Amino acid sequence: MNIFKFGGASVNSADGVRNFVKIVQSYRDDMIIVLSAMGKTTNSLEEIVDAFVAKQEGVEGKVASLYNYHVAIVNDLFLKKEDVIFSKLDSLFEELRGYLKKIPSLSYEFDYDQIVCFGELISTTIVSEFLRFSGTPNKWVDIRTCLKTDDTYKEGRVNWELSQKLVPQVFGFTNTFVYITQGFLGGTTTNQTTTLGREGSDYTAAILSYILEVDKLAIWKDVPGIMNADPKWLPEAQKLERISYQEAIELAFYGAKVIHPKTIQPIQQKKIPLQVRSFLNLEESGTLISTASKKQDQLLPVYIQKKDQVLISIRPTNFSFILEENLGHLFSVFAKHRVKVNLIQNSAISFSVCVDNCDRRLMDMIEEISNDFEVKYNEDLELITIRHHNAEAVERMTQGRQILLEQRSRDTAQFVLA
Ligand code: ASP
Ligand code: MG
Repeated sequence: MNIFKFGGASVNSADGVRNFVKIVQSYRDDMIIVLSAMGKTTNSLEEIVDAFVAKQEGVEGKVASLYNYHVAIVNDLFLKKEDVIFSKLDSLFEELRGYLKKIPSLSYEFDYDQIVCFGELISTTIVSEFLRFSGTPNKWVDIRTCLKTDDTYKEGRVNWELSQKLVPQVFGFTNTFVYITQGFLGGTTTNQTTTLGREGSDYTAAILSYILEVDKLAIWKDVPGIMNADPKWLPEAQKLERISYQEAIELAFYGAKVIHPKTIQPIQQKKIPLQVRSFLNLEESGTLISTASKKQDQLLPVYIQKKDQVLISIRPTNFSFILEENLGHLFSVFAKHRVKVNLIQNSAISFSVCVDNCDRRLMDMIEEISNDFEVKYNEDLELITIRHHNAEAVERMTQGRQILLEQRSRDTAQFVLA
């Protein structure tokens, strides 16, 4: 049994959906397809949430453009206007409009999940119907009935015990060979919709793979596999043929946007191989992530870029040392303001951190720290991480740039650059 995860870019147009069907039909195995929302739908739904919560005008217009986008795809795919997909699409949009007529709840996160979930509900409905229409019977599963989470809306935490009981019941493979379900969504025990965090569909596929102990997970993307840099940034980027789970976790940790960081852990526990491959080129084998030993990891330098970084340096006002108590306090303040720390450097009387620029939360945090410390910061910086660095790779990244901070270990070099 295989699990295939297809991202939003793979089904962003009628041609994309036809290509998807071609791929699925080239396999004979039992499979579960985990699908994201079409194209940039989640971004559009986020705009709708913001407008709804702020009680702004224009919500209806935004919903209408989203409807037109999907209806154009459906019109292109289906010949007969009386096909059941048209009424299914209309009722999903009716449900969405119904929610938007209500008064916003007191929780932004709750409203977010109840609205944003429509992206995946709509995409899976269209694709499931079109697959059936193209001669492949399949079963549409509402993942919210079996992938259970707590009620941390917008970032649902998986209830493994309950999901482990329910998922195998839902994906029973009796008389069904192909299932289609939503990535990114979950449900609470009281059947409220939750989401797993942006780009969470990879994680959904990993959760199902873990619970069902599948033979293989494939994530289909618009890149040839995992590259040693984002090709939009470094066009000469090369593909990594094979990497270990550990290396994949490291890459995701440092910010490589290949797969969702939570994806690897569940599949690594059950030693399920993960193939990251291109839906644009079926000849291309992609990247295999598996139990490869460290020696088998390809040691090509891997370049990871994080933009919009802020370097903060913190000193006790009385020139005392930075000690455990200070550090403990500082980290609790970072955590309280949910500021993501990407790099730390410590000296006797000062402490530097490189963090993502999260605007208001960051400023609140700096204000709080300034009560007890002298704080200076630089904005608009770049953090470059090089895995498996060598002199040439370092030169290539830092040449002609001002280095504000650097840190090197055996495997990893990091530079904060102006
Ligand atoms: N549609 C969701 C998002 O764009 C989940 C995903 O694509 O993985 O964040
Ligand atoms: Mg998406």
